[in-house]
Amino acid sequence: MTADEIGPGEIGHELVTPVALEDEREAEATLRPRRLSEFIAQDRVREQLELLLQGAMRRGRPPEHILLSGSPGLGKTTLAMIIAAELGTGLRITSGPAIERSGDLAAVLTSLAPGDVLFIDEIHRMARPAEELLYSAMEDFRVDVIVGKGPGATAIPIDVEPFTLVGATTRAGLLTGPMRDRFGFVGHLEFYEPHELDLLLRRSARILGVKLTDDGAAEIARRSRGTPRIANRLLRRVQDYAEVRADGVVNAANARAALKVYDVDELGLDRLDKAVLNALVRSFGGGPVGLSTLAVAVGEQPDTVEEVCEPFLVRAGLLARTPRGRVATAAAWRHLGLTPPDRLTFLERLPRAGSGRADSMGDGATPIPDLFNQDL
Ligand code: ADP
Repeated sequence: MTADEIGPGEIGHELVTPVALEDEREAEATLRPRRLSEFIAQDRVREQLELLLQGAMRRGRPPEHILLSGSPGLGKTTLAMIIAAELGTGLRITSGPAIERSGDLAAVLTSLAPGDVLFIDEIHRMARPAEELLYSAMEDFRVDVIVGKGPGATAIPIDVEPFTLVGATTRAGLLTGPMRDRFGFVGHLEFYEPHELDLLLRRSARILGVKLTDDGAAEIARRSRGTPRIANRLLRRVQDYAEVRADGVVNAANARAALKVYDVDELGLDRLDKAVLNALVRSFGGGPVGLSTLAVAVGEQPDTVEEVCEPFLVRAGLLARTPRGRVATAAAWRHLGLTPPDRLTFLERLPRAGSGRADSMGDGATPIPDLFNQDL
C-alpha cells in the first residue's frame, strides 16, 4: 500500500505512519526478507503457509488462493513476494484501486504464466465488475470478456492459466461474502511484540551496517507501533542522528534524543493518533463518539482513522470501540497528562478481560473490559 492511496490529509508525511512513504521503497526492498525462514514472528501464519506451500509443491499444483489481512506495514506484500519465491514462480503485483475496469483485470489475468502468483493489494477496494470477473478466474480459471455493447454484446470465454491469487486487505470485514469464500487460506497478521521488533531491527542493522546496541534496539522497538515498516524507518532516522550529532552508534541515548527531535513519543504515537486521542478526550469528554464525527474533528477520512490509526490505539489499550462509538480509556487520559474520570478508573478495577498481548505494550496499556472491546 502506498502513501498516495491513503487519500487526503497529511498522514503520508509522518515519521511513524505505517503507510510507506514515497522515497522509502528502495530502502524497504533492501530489507525485505526473501524466504519464509527469514520472515520474523507471525509464527502461526508462517507455519500454516509453509504447510500450504509444501503440500501444493508435492502435488505439483498451484496452492489455493490466499488472503492476508492486517494493518499497513505488517508484512503482507513481503509475504506475497515470499510465496512466489518459495514456489519458484513469477509474481504480478497490482492493487484494487488500480483496477478501474474489468478489462484491466482481464488483461492481467490472461497474461499470467502457469503457476504465477497474482498479488492484489487493497483487494477490498476493487470495482465490483472487476471483482465479479475475478470470481470465475479464481474458481474455474476462465474469464468472460464482453465484446460489443447493448443487445449485440457477446461474452467470449477465455481460459486463464492456473494461478494463485494472493489478496491483501487492511479490512477483511469489507470483503464481500463470495469473494471471501473463494480463498482457501486466510491469514491474519498481528501487530508485532517489542521483542519481535527487536529481532527485526538487529537483522536490518546487520544488512544496513548500522552499529546497534541492545538498549538502542529495545528503545526503537518500543516506539514502533508494533509495525516493522515503522521500526525500519526509525532505525534509519536514529542512524542519521547518531552519525551527524553523536558517535555513530545507535544506542538508547541517541535513540531517545533523535526521536525527541522527530516528535515520536514513548509509545510511538504519530500526529494522527495523538489528534484522535486529543479530540476524543478534550472535545468529546472521552466519548463515546461516532467514527465520522471523530474523523471530521481531526480533519481526516473516516477510513484512514479506522484502518491506519485505530487498530494500534485499540491494541495499545488507549481506545475502545463500543456499540455506541469510540471511547478513550483511562490510559489514554493519562497518556495525555490528564486525570481520567472516575467511571473509567472504576472499569479499570474490574477483573481483567481481553487479550494478554496488550500487556506488553508498556506503561500506557490498560485493561479493557469485554463490554468496551466490541467492534461496531
Ligand atoms: P504491508 O504490505 O503489510 O503494508 P510490507 O510487506 O510492505 O507491509 O512490509 C513493510 C516493510 O516491513 C518491508 O520492507 C519489510 O522489509 C518489513 N517487514 C514486514 N514484515 C517483516 C517481517 N516479518 N520480518 C522482516 N521484515 C518485515
